[in-house]
Amino acid sequence: MADGIQPQPGIMDIALYQGGVAHLDGVSNVLKLSSNENPLGPSDAAKEAFLRAVHSLHRYPPTDHASLRGAIGAVWGVATDRVICGVGSDEILHLLCQAYVGAGDEVIHTEHGFAIYRIATLAAGGTPVEVPERERVTDVDAILAACNDRTKLVFIANPNNPTGTMIGLAELARLAAELPPQAMLVLDGAYAEYVEGYDAGLALVDARQNVVMTRTFSKIYGLGGLRVGWGYGPQAVIDVLNRIRGPFNLSSAALAAAEAAVRDTAYTEKCRSENARWREWMATALAELGVPSDTSTANFVLARFSSPDEALACDAHLRHEGIIVRQVAGYKLPHCLRITVGDESACRRVVHAVAQFKGAV
Ligand SMILES: *Cc1c(COP(=O)(O)O)cnc(C)c1O
Repeated sequence: MADGIQPQPGIMDIALYQGGVAHLDGVSNVLKLSSNENPLGPSDAAKEAFLRAVHSLHRYPPTDHASLRGAIGAVWGVATDRVICGVGSDEILHLLCQAYVGAGDEVIHTEHGFAIYRIATLAAGGTPVEVPERERVTDVDAILAACNDRTKLVFIANPNNPTGTMIGLAELARLAAELPPQAMLVLDGAYAEYVEGYDAGLALVDARQNVVMTRTFSKIYGLGGLRVGWGYGPQAVIDVLNRIRGPFNLSSAALAAAEAAVRDTAYTEKCRSENARWREWMATALAELGVPSDTSTANFVLARFSSPDEALACDAHLRHEGIIVRQVAGYKLPHCLRITVGDESACRRVVHAVAQFKGAV
């Protein structure tokens, strides 16, 4: 290629996102616990809605997502005008950076924060600023100390991935209240539905003008393959994002399945309680094997080993047993493995394999 043809500054600083491994050569019956997918899959209603969409594939989808936004509004009690739907919540995060971040602007993410925050910041020409956590928990004081007059966005996943920890609403409110005037708090609620009684920050969004929340259909709703997410924020912010959003960003099949999924609240509740039950069981069993973890509020456990070498060796043993978990050295946690909470048999299988590795069976 001609030397004169160059991408925008920052783009070549982006390392390619590594998704969870899905296959192991020569191994059948692979158990994939590397991408925080719902082991129970989507609700039957979502699958049926997806199938029905086959009859209108020649039609363009709606551009306003009114039906899905209406369902989200009905289920979560939010103002539908201030909901935006995207191709996964990833798209909402990218749109926020594209709209509010440029050269010279800073975007804060935490030490073990989700990789997309840095990628979306660099893609927009901004400067990512990494802030330490306190023992794998978001540290509001450290974030506030890192803010300055160039700070445009502050990304926090609550619960966080890959740590599984979260901070309380009072801390979130304090953070939002003390941000500099040109900065916006982005609350990534990808795992919020797993936390009983947590509103994901919706009330904080309503109470303030500088908080946006994002959610996804990829985790508890079991629709990662369809790529649907949504955001909720101040009217002015949502109006800005809608100007740059692709008008046909979501397919009709994805819209239909997501709408059916969000309306099936009984199924969501079943997934939440099953996850809590097996998460607890798995974390306890791993701890008894000498593999502790912080109390997780999400659908995965961050298993801590005594050293990076031990984590790698355990990962190798798990792969030999046909089990794929997530290495998180890229998240500055080289002594840890992130293990998605599967169904009962998956949890028993992974714990058994860790016990073998530890010489306990
Ligand atoms: C999985 C995940 C998402 C969801 O991404 P989608 O694009 O909606 O699939 C967002 N944030 C975090 C922290 C995640 O772990």
